[in-house]
Amino acid sequence: MNFQNRVPCGSLRPVDAGRMVQAAGWVDALRDHGEVIFAHLRDRSGIVQVVFDWNRAPRLRETARGLKEEFCVAVAGTVVERMPGTENPSLETGDVEIIATDLTVLNPAKTLPFLISEKGMTAGVELAGPGAVAEDLRLQYRYLDLRRPSMQDHFIKRHRIVKRVRDFLDERGFLEIETPVLTKSTPEGARDYLVPSRVHPGHFYALPQSPQLFKQLLMISGFERYFQIVRCFRDEDLRPNRQPEFTQIDLEASFIDEEFIYELMEELTVRMFAVGGIELPRPFPRMTYREAMDTAGSDRPDLRFGLRFVEATDIFRNTNYAIFQKIIQAGGCVKGINVKGQSDVLSKNVLQNEYAKQIVPSLGGMGMTWMRVAGGNLESNIVQFFSEAERQEILRRFEAEEGDVLMLIADPSYAVVTSVLGKLRLHVAERLGLIPSNTYCPLWVTEFPLFEPTEDWVTSCHHPFTAPDRVDFDPRNRDELLSLRSRAYDLVMNGEELGGGSIRIHDKKVQHKVFEALGLTPEDIAGKFGFFVQALEYGAPPHGGIALGLDRVTAMILGTASIRDVIAFPKNRSAYCPLTQAPAPVTRQQLAELGLLNLGGETVLPGMEKEGDIIDTLSWVSRIGVVESERSAIHAAVRQAERLAEKIQAIPGDGEPLFAVIDITQPPRPGTEARISPFVQSGELLKNAPALKGDYFKVANILE
Ligand code: ASP
Repeated sequence: MNFQNRVPCGSLRPVDAGRMVQAAGWVDALRDHGEVIFAHLRDRSGIVQVVFDWNRAPRLRETARGLKEEFCVAVAGTVVERMPGTENPSLETGDVEIIATDLTVLNPAKTLPFLISEKGMTAGVELAGPGAVAEDLRLQYRYLDLRRPSMQDHFIKRHRIVKRVRDFLDERGFLEIETPVLTKSTPEGARDYLVPSRVHPGHFYALPQSPQLFKQLLMISGFERYFQIVRCFRDEDLRPNRQPEFTQIDLEASFIDEEFIYELMEELTVRMFAVGGIELPRPFPRMTYREAMDTAGSDRPDLRFGLRFVEATDIFRNTNYAIFQKIIQAGGCVKGINVKGQSDVLSKNVLQNEYAKQIVPSLGGMGMTWMRVAGGNLESNIVQFFSEAERQEILRRFEAEEGDVLMLIADPSYAVVTSVLGKLRLHVAERLGLIPSNTYCPLWVTEFPLFEPTEDWVTSCHHPFTAPDRVDFDPRNRDELLSLRSRAYDLVMNGEELGGGSIRIHDKKVQHKVFEALGLTPEDIAGKFGFFVQALEYGAPPHGGIALGLDRVTAMILGTASIRDVIAFPKNRSAYCPLTQAPAPVTRQQLAELGLLNLGGETVLPGMEKEGDIIDTLSWVSRIGVVESERSAIHAAVRQAERLAEKIQAIPGDGEPLFAVIDITQPPRPGTEARISPFVQSGELLKNAPALKGDYFKVANILE
């Protein structure tokens, strides 16, 4: 069989009845009825049912009987309409089937590590999707995981999104130009991935955190409009929905201002979301950073629901309520949200015992003040401390009506109030189901601060090439630096940052001033960015740009839980690739070739000959910082654990069954059932955990 006349499996319809066709693909599912075998044949276009019937094609019998799932096969046969009542409405080809006259096994397949088929062979049968399989196993056999129609659909859509981006930017006069992957550090706030150079021993390339400097150089070169769908690399701490390498839609343009970027990106975003059938209303609203923090406690506010913050500090300026009095005297503030009509759900008990005592402290707050509106009055455990005028003003300011619940956070620190109330806002919205699904709320956040404080000085909020709102500042005055705003903008959707950018500095003197403000010496500047600062001296045009995270945008358009579902070969949550097992150790020979064995004159590389301290590994894996003074005690505990493990290993037979935390319903082997730990009943199970916040203790925030 040659494949020239192959028809796509998913294309067959009743009008094709009577046609002789050839098809090829993978066996998605099989049903053996003795005299007849039904198979779902799947290729990229879809699935069609193929019938192997011994009465009609006896010579296919042996081959058909040997078929297994995911064999790669070719069939020839006649398309027929299915008998009434046997149609499969979950297949687009469900009204027809191919009666096979020929079958060739192109390649058999081993027993699969997991089920790939997503379509039942009879109407109404739903099969579990990829979610039912452990993600690391999916990633280890990613080539099989990607055979699923649902996964293929993600990449077909991703392709369409990228195609639209290219077409649109081409329409608008942007040129796609590639920039180097082996390059020098481009600061975006993460660590660099370094690549050692063999021909320049002891020297390293950095993989780009973004093409920032190159795209600015392209503006200086006079290309005027550049874009690139580009891989960026950031060595960051593990966080859900982050990947060490990810793709950006990166662009830059000369002789433009913020309005150019807003118009361009809104149209681009509208077109991308249309691939997922999502209509975005234009123009996108805008909000300054200050307003975002003031009203939602976040620089990426989720506008799908209300719960806007209400400023209440002035109401309590002269209050007799001692807690508020102290906080306000200390320069603090009071803000709150009105959870409309939820007093049935948010009972006094929930507000006091869950929110005030447990949830708010776990979000970093000292406590929460709550009030409910009942019988036209405010009720709570502290309302008696407020004057009548204060109560009336609370009702008025919060627009509080019968059944409403007010939640207030007060703290000497504005940052604590906004951060805690921001998290509380999200918690309440999720708990009460206030976030509508299939709603998309884009937003521009503007007027970010140029710098943010560090413990000893300041650092850039975005990157150091972002233009400030004014240039007459003193780079040695910290307060003045912190008061500067930048010409940066972020595109936010549903509480997620889709991307950001800025109008850039194109004047060498201003660029120097910003570097100076960041504490860089002339030597640092020359060493890190000398080539770039020099380029600014040759008639650099005014310019600006932006970058969107393609993986994130695609995941949002497709509604996938993780960006890993829209990346063909992602790393897992530990930045590890279970398929290729990267990163992997290399041979001493390779290290020697790269001049890494004796780097900096040391005879051994840390961790190469001398084993690393196990405590550092444990500390890293558990995300628990170890104080130097604890090290010897932990070493002793580890040694004791090792001795215990050796003893257990030495016990002949299966040894004592271990204790279990919860009841195990499916014991692994008879006779080795674990007993429930007696500490479960006594509540002492976590007695060694540090009691940090009431009944809670902190664990690593790395789980999605
Ligand atoms: N280089 C920036 C980033 O990767 C985007 C930009 O400023 O255009 O976040």
